[in-house]
Amino acid sequence: MIIRGGTFGPVATNTYVVAERQGGEALIVDPAMGSARWVEETLARFELTPLAVYATHGHWDHVVENHVWADRGVPVWAGAGDLDWLRAPAPFNPALFGNPPPTPGVEPARLLNEGDVLELGDLRLVLIETPGHSPGCLVAHEADRGEALVGDLVFAQGVGRTDFPRSDPQAMLSSLKRTFAELPGATRIYPGHGPWGVSLAEAETFARMFM
Ligand SMILES: [Zn+2]
Repeated sequence: MIIRGGTFGPVATNTYVVAERQGGEALIVDPAMGSARWVEETLARFELTPLAVYATHGHWDHVVENHVWADRGVPVWAGAGDLDWLRAPAPFNPALFGNPPPTPGVEPARLLNEGDVLELGDLRLVLIETPGHSPGCLVAHEADRGEALVGDLVFAQGVGRTDFPRSDPQAMLSSLKRTFAELPGATRIYPGHGPWGVSLAEAETFARMFM
């Protein structure tokens, strides 16, 4: 399994390219502001064909370059709970995002829900709905390879904020508990911000300080 990450934009958002193997199909995960060239280079280096853009959730910094890929015919897949933010990306926090020019929205080609499976060659990324940071937050878990794209649910040393519009601290607590209960501690996590590749068990020791 190939997972390559880069960090871009005003709030250091992680963009990932995920594929089963060189020469196969790839998911572009959360194309952040200024990530397009790096994504192109990564696709080219591994001879990958983009299958879809996968949005871990609908926050502006994670969906801001969806339109770049949609304009090239790459479909966008996103959780049903953040649909309106996909259609009209909302930089709702000027303290974080500044006041960027309007971001074109994209109509998702596929709305994702609990239990859906993203198939990428032999990879099967099973989706878990993890609302709290935003209503449409998803975790994508590849159980055989022991990898999980966790968005802004949990970071290497912290958890996602719950003071944004439509955040829900109680739902966040349930989502964190559920994730730590259901995914093996050895699972390597790929969050929306900060370092990636640490184990879920390592991240859990920090996350528990916020639970
Ligand atoms: Zn977020």
